[in-house]
Amino acid sequence: MARAIDVPDLIARARQGQAAAVARLISLVEDDSPALPEVSAALAPHTGRAHIVGLTGSPGVGKSTSTSALVAELRRRGKRVAVLAIDPSSPFSGGALLGDRVRMSEHDTDPDVFIRSMASRGHLGGLAGAAPQALRVLDAAGCEVVLVETVGVGQSEVEVAGVADTTLVLLAPGMGDGIQAAKAGILEIGDIFVINKADRDGATTTRRELRTMVGMRAADDSWTPPIVLTVATKGEGAEEVVDEITNHGDHLRSSGELTKRRVARARREIEALALASVQRRLGEFGAGVQELAVQVEAGALDPFAAANQLLGASS
Ligand code: GDP
Repeated sequence: MARAIDVPDLIARARQGQAAAVARLISLVEDDSPALPEVSAALAPHTGRAHIVGLTGSPGVGKSTSTSALVAELRRRGKRVAVLAIDPSSPFSGGALLGDRVRMSEHDTDPDVFIRSMASRGHLGGLAGAAPQALRVLDAAGCEVVLVETVGVGQSEVEVAGVADTTLVLLAPGMGDGIQAAKAGILEIGDIFVINKADRDGATTTRRELRTMVGMRAADDSWTPPIVLTVATKGEGAEEVVDEITNHGDHLRSSGELTKRRVARARREIEALALASVQRRLGEFGAGVQELAVQVEAGALDPFAAANQLLGASS
């Protein structure tokens, strides 16, 4: 039997910025705890203030290093910051592994920096269902900027944009990078492009290529995505990136785009949760599905009618 959870107490402590309470609440999200609806309802009035910034890009491009450099710059500006590293390819128990992956030792002892990793594979709602809940915890804890980074490989590169207000796309100099980006659909989702590893040859060429490609994309013309060159290992360019994040935040608010993006995010979250709920209930009707399948195979029932029966039975 799980230990009873004192949700109001946890939330009160998280709002005071107590790291242990924040960590515990995010664990509840990760574990798909039955207490989540209560947590979610209690958090709701304290959310909506954090600027959610997604970082995406191919493995090895420098996401972790850049995140650390951005945290340092944001702290210089006195911001309370959180980092949420999501690994969509790890099962829930992957937390410890992820802990090693997030190399943020320079920020470990700073009480105004929350660093948390979360696995989303196996979470019924997937990244779209799990991440917003964890983000709400960090938002309610008073984090002004939350950096969301996906680790590992997969679809998540584009998915992270769905949970962010502002999406940073990281690239590195090198042949074909621009073309790869176009393939991955990454050009469409970038609000700010960062060419990291600018200490290597080809950074200006990559910038030129990227500028052409970004110029061609069918986008809202009130925001032209800036392209910033950085050397994350030295913190170079972090100041400019943070300036651009702030500019984009101002743009989102003044154009009404922030609300639009957040409504779209809420919608995806609702859909993910509803689908998860249906899936869970279908699972509970396991034997019933088998029975229907036998009837369909025998020609006694058509699959549409069977599905309808199932949905009727599970609602
Ligand atoms: P991630 O997989 O995208 O999170 O990439 P990492 O942050 O782990 O970086 C991958 C490797 O690139 C590491 O060895 C970093 O030290 C290195 N790296 C990151 N940023 C830079 C940079 O600006 N210049 C150079 N030369 N190396 C970098």
